[in-house]
Amino acid sequence: MVDIKEKIRFRSDRSIYDELLADKTIKTLADKRLKEASGDSYRRGLLGHSLRITEKIAPDLYSHVAAARDKLGLSDKKIEIYIYSSPEPNASCAFLGGDDVILTFSSGLLQSMDHDELNFVVGHELGHALFEHYALPTHGILEAGNLDAGDAMKLMSWSRRAEISADRAGLFVCESPKAAISSFLKLSCGLSHPVIEFDLEEYSSQIQDLSELSNSVEDTSHCYSSHPFNPIRVMAIDLYSKSDEYHELTGKQNSSLSVDDADERIHSVLKYMEPVADEEKQAIQSQALFWGGAWVAFADGHLADSEAENLRQQAGDEMYEQGMAQLNETANPLELARTQFNEAVRPLLSMGASDRCSFIQKLVVVARADQNVDDSELDALAEMAKTMKVEPSFVQQILMFLD
Ligand SMILES: [Zn+2]
Repeated sequence: MVDIKEKIRFRSDRSIYDELLADKTIKTLADKRLKEASGDSYRRGLLGHSLRITEKIAPDLYSHVAAARDKLGLSDKKIEIYIYSSPEPNASCAFLGGDDVILTFSSGLLQSMDHDELNFVVGHELGHALFEHYALPTHGILEAGNLDAGDAMKLMSWSRRAEISADRAGLFVCESPKAAISSFLKLSCGLSHPVIEFDLEEYSSQIQDLSELSNSVEDTSHCYSSHPFNPIRVMAIDLYSKSDEYHELTGKQNSSLSVDDADERIHSVLKYMEPVADEEKQAIQSQALFWGGAWVAFADGHLADSEAENLRQQAGDEMYEQGMAQLNETANPLELARTQFNEAVRPLLSMGASDRCSFIQKLVVVARADQNVDDSELDALAEMAKTMKVEPSFVQQILMFLD
């Protein structure tokens, strides 16, 4: 028999999970938290505020859960099912020690989902039990102790990978990528067909927006998100459903993708949610400085030696050599510099006002390197200031100050 658990699990969920549990501080905090949670208070709360389901009360839901449990090889688990009243579609999985697993569903979820979608959700929640994700209660660990920022981000980065694994378990149970994706839509906005027409291509293009957003060097809130953003999950489901591994597991033919290739592409978009390293921040700044500097320098038609020298100083040798090589190859260096600048500067737009101003100031210094700032250079600087959301008059102020 195939080991479903090892097969389905997203590889880096497993590897980071092992690393985190090998970390003494994290393991201690996790165990402490699990001990606190294993009391009966959670169950008591549920019994008071929700309805416990048996086979007789809700045969349909019960049979979905039982089928998913067996398909995932969790027949030895005792699963309690609760429904609570809330219009918001939601489900959760909790582990209370021993072989007891508690699944909760909101009434809103049960009302809005069809059979396949419900199978996906149940498979997802039981996936968390299958992979024993409960051993690392992320929020509990963060609340319980003062982890340093690096460890905290690693924990959340693992949590997002754990969701990818759980989604795969859900897909394995429902065997319908379409149902998996429509359940995401319902979970994220409560609606689906006929209000929402889903278009995978278009939805995937939201990942592009995401890459720009999360490339932001200042805002790191996404690094602490426990779940991957929905477009990433949709893309991960789509890729996995095309993989050889999924096809093998579900007896389908003709896969177009190896699971390693699928995983690599998923990792590259998950990276959008990781913090930007300091060296990377520096590289982004150098790039933007180089292209902005080249733009002003070429604005008056030629690159003066003094401007080139200043550009090298501001952007660093590596960026300078690389950028000059590109400029030497093009017929229109001004246009190239301008396009590259607008591209390179995007991650910097989220910086604070003073950082944006000091960035513009550096560009003014490059422009002034040949002792003369003509109208074309001024126009270029004003346009860059505008792009950076800095008052164009700021350029004038610096020039006056430098004179
Ligand atoms: Zn989950």
